[in-house]
Amino acid sequence: MENLSNIGVIREVMQRHGFTFSKALGQNFLINPTVCPRMAELGGAKPGVGVIEIGAGVGVLTKELSKRADKVVCIEIDDRLLPVLDETLSECANVEIIHADVMKVDLRSLIEEKFRGMEVVVCANLPYYITSPILMALLEQRLPIRSITVMVQKEAAQRLCAKPGTREVGAVTIAVRYYSEPKVLFQVSRGSFLPSPDVDSTVIRLDIHEKPAVDADCKTFFKVVRAAFSMRRKTILNCLSTGLSISKERAAQVLEHAEVPPTARAEQLSMEQFAQIANAL
Ligand code: SAM
Repeated sequence: MENLSNIGVIREVMQRHGFTFSKALGQNFLINPTVCPRMAELGGAKPGVGVIEIGAGVGVLTKELSKRADKVVCIEIDDRLLPVLDETLSECANVEIIHADVMKVDLRSLIEEKFRGMEVVVCANLPYYITSPILMALLEQRLPIRSITVMVQKEAAQRLCAKPGTREVGAVTIAVRYYSEPKVLFQVSRGSFLPSPDVDSTVIRLDIHEKPAVDADCKTFFKVVRAAFSMRRKTILNCLSTGLSISKERAAQVLEHAEVPPTARAEQLSMEQFAQIANAL
């Protein structure tokens, strides 16, 4: 079926299938015809590549991925969309739809089973209610994937792609940078969706590092990051002492050893400084 980003086509298909949008599942479908081809291109969909998509909707991005990549496996939670996708993607022989909650799928096995020998990328217009859990699940499992290209809420993109040392940094920024190099690709206005959400969106790409960005024990590194951002306006000394349940004296010793000023705030620290604190511990 042609023109899946055409609002008239989407309305007609949905009406025929008696489909209504679920707000709880973050269902805002793309109706801007320029967005999906651009996402597919910049997301690395090309011959020799297999793509995992999360949330097909009516298949508008799926179709663009299918035109460019060798294979597309799309995980969609809403069973009401399955008959719709059967129809809209009937000509896309290289697409497989898996009816499941992405948070419950064993992605490592899925990649082994479906994409043997292919380079694998993730490309998705994410349901915004679980953006961070999905990204962290993809990153923390250290899956054999090359990149993750996703549409997220504009404010989430600012945090995910913030540069260490700037005000936008949060624990999630450091986590993302530990596993990948984030990059803002382009902005998408709220009018590009049906129904139109209350926020604008941004497409970002995370290029996965072959090994973590800094040299530190992963568990300790993330314990430090969580403690450091647990109380936003407090000094790193106070955050470490409270967050790690250690005395102020011990926290001061660790910071001295790591050569980090005790009065610094978490958002001012570099990736290396977080690693130095983890190693000093
Ligand atoms: N890709 C389509 C597009 O761009 O128009 C739809 C994107 S819409 C923002 C998000 C999609 O994710 C919906 O189809 C929704 O049903 C699906 N979804 C929501 N939660 C999910 C989950 N936990 N696992 C898999 N799919 C999910």
